[in-house]
Formats: sequence, C-alpha cells, structure tokens
Amino acid sequence: MPLDPPTMLTISIALAAAAALYLAIEWRSIREPSLLFWSAGFATITVGSTLALLRSSGFVLIGIWFANGLLVTAHFLFLLGVARFTQTRLSRGWSLIFVIWLVMLVLPEGPLWSKVMLAANSLLVALSTLKASFLLRPHGKSLSVGAVQLRYVLLAHGIFYVLKALTVMIPGTLIDLAAFRGEIIQISLVEGAMAIMLIALSMTGTERYRREKEIARLAARDPLTALYNRRALQMRAPRLLQDTSPQRPGALLLIDIDNFKLVNDQYGHTAGDRLLIALSELIRALLPREALTARLGGDEFVILLAHASNERIVELGNALREQFLTTSSQTFPTPDAVTLSIGATIFDTPPASLAALIEQGDAALYESKRGGRNRIRLTGRTTPG
Ligand code: GH3
Ligand code: MG
Repeated sequence: MPLDPPTMLTISIALAAAAALYLAIEWRSIREPSLLFWSAGFATITVGSTLALLRSSGFVLIGIWFANGLLVTAHFLFLLGVARFTQTRLSRGWSLIFVIWLVMLVLPEGPLWSKVMLAANSLLVALSTLKASFLLRPHGKSLSVGAVQLRYVLLAHGIFYVLKALTVMIPGTLIDLAAFRGEIIQISLVEGAMAIMLIALSMTGTERYRREKEIARLAARDPLTALYNRRALQMRAPRLLQDTSPQRPGALLLIDIDNFKLVNDQYGHTAGDRLLIALSELIRALLPREALTARLGGDEFVILLAHASNERIVELGNALREQFLTTSSQTFPTPDAVTLSIGATIFDTPPASLAALIEQGDAALYESKRGGRNRIRLTGRTTPG
C-alpha cells in the first residue's frame, strides 16, 4: 500500500487517538493536570487530522484553515501541559496565537495562499513547541530522564516546523495544501506520525519518572521530620562506613530526648511533634552535608559522620545539647528540663555492621542517661597518629 497523504493522515489519526486515550488513562491514575492537557492536545490532533481528510473533497475552509488551527491549538495545549509540569505561568501574550489564526481566515485567495498559510501555521506550531522545550531546560537542579527526553523531542519537532516554514521562501517550492501536493507536505505527514509517538511516549515517561522519584523520596524519609528513616540509613551507611581509615575516622552519635513525655503530657502530642521537628532542624543546621542523619523512631535520632575526631564529636554534641535546651525551655517549659542525652562512638576501621555500631552507641547512650542525662558519652578509640 503506497503511503499516500490520506493513508498517512489516517495513521496519524489512529496514533493521536491512541495517545489521547493512553494519556487520559494515565491521568485517571495519577491525576496530574499536565497529562490532561497533553491528552486534550492529542484529541485535538485526532479531530484536526480527520477534518484535514475533508480538504480533498473540496471543504477548504474546514479542511485546511480550521484543521490547521486545531494543529496550532494542540501544540498550545502541549505547551500548557509543560507549563503545568514545570509550574510556570504563561503570559497573556500567548493568546495572540489565536488572533493570528483568525486573521488568516481573511487571507486573500491567490497563488501565494497555500504558502502563506503553511508558513504562518508552521511558525505558530514552532513557537509553542520551542517554548515548551525551553521551559523544560534544567533550572539549577537536574531534570529527570523523562523530562530530558521530552525536551529534546519537542526541540526537534519545533526545529522541523521552523524549517518547514523556511522552505516556503525557497523559490519554486511546490505547495498545494488543497491537494496535499508538494514534498514538504509529504515529509511533514511522516514527521507528524513519528512525532505523535515520540512526544506521547516522552510525556508519560516524564510524569512517571517524576512520580517514581517522589515515591523513592517518600519511602526513604521519616514523614514528620523529613530526615532519613531507619531503612534509608541502612542502605546509605555502608558506603560511609567502608570509607573509614585511621586517617579518616568515622563516628556515630545516638541521641534520645530526655523527659520528652513531659512535653506530650503537658502540651499535647502536636507540641511534642513540633519539638521533634525543631530538633531535626537543629541537626540539619549544625551538620555537614555529607553526614547521614536519621530518625530511628520515637524521640531517637542517629548521626553518622565521616572525618570525625574526639574534639569534633564533643563540640558537635555540646552545641546540639545547648541549642536544644534553649529551644525546649523557651517553647515548652516543664518541671524537669527536656534535654538531650547522646551516646557517641568513634571508629577508625570499618565496623562489622551498622547494627553493631548502633549497639555500641546504645550502650554509650545508656551511660549518659544513667549519669544524669543532658550529657554526651563518647566510646571507642582511634589509633594515635
Ligand atoms: P527518657 O528521658 O528516659 O528518654 O524518657 P522520655 O520521656 O523521653 O520517653 P522515652 O524516650 O522513653 O519515650 C519516647 C516517647 O516519645 C514515647 C512516646 O510517647 C513519644 N513519642 C514517640 N513517637 C512520637 C511522635 O511521633 N510524636 C510525639 N509527639 N511523641 C512521640
Ligand atoms: Mg526519651
């Protein structure tokens, strides 16, 4: 079967309808508005391409002007979806696209009609597409794999439409929109079918990668303090622990709040939660980025440090204790002070396991509690030199 324009258009209609349906189903499960915009874009292409089939039957206004307008609208819907995805606001100036489309309705008929129509239409499509690709550029933080794919697919599609508009300028180019004649129209139909597939696939990928990343982030974090949870610590600790050497000793600090129940009892559970959050913020502020910090559960926190020394651990522990006491006594005064007990252990060879290390920290923490609370107890030793 030769790939004549009506056949190519029919394939595009089927592909665009499938893409619209696929993105709508995806939206039903994750309710991301960008998916709905993209699905609407492909639905618009389905309708536009179906109307375009009518042009060979003499329906020029609907088959060309209106159908092309729907193609422009579809790309604008893609842009709206990307704007939602990247949380950007589009300026009102974008509505000019539709003003230009309306103006083209009064374009005088003549030998240049097809060329002007094609150039204007292509430029409008290119504008939305290139803007969408531009919005997907990395903003400081790296983009997900899916978003990078979508960015480049849109870039290529946009550039294709710029080139399509430019071909009009080449003298002698044959373009007859009504009869689908001219090489550029044939090439464009093939590109259209390819673009539908690639854009739709990258769109679902874009949302999926983002969702997977979000799920992985949530699974690794304690929901109250957003510090790592025990499982995430277990996964991340081995790298830090294996890096230990006499030149680079490591340390573990186990922290438990003293008399924490008093805050819960006197001020309520929500107040207790706020104090737990305040402690997590203190830990974040005082620790270097490469340190691993986690909430093990309840009022127990753990810190894993690389490049540790006895002085540094004591200095850090005391800073935490002092600042926490200031916060707790000012926000939730209690009959017995709400303070921090810390059990720390330092090591200069990779420990047998994280669990073994936590056990040592626990023993030191118990000593702190038994010694009267609000103190740090340091165990373990490093080889001198
Ligand atoms: P100690 O000085 O011996 O450490 O006693 P404590 O009062 O701090 O209590 P303990 O460490 O034995 O127990 C921790 C308490 O923290 C038990 C529980 O009521 C409370 N708790 C555990 N998880 C949460 C939480 O997510 N939010 C709040 N507000 N309280 C919690
Ligand atoms: Mg406690």
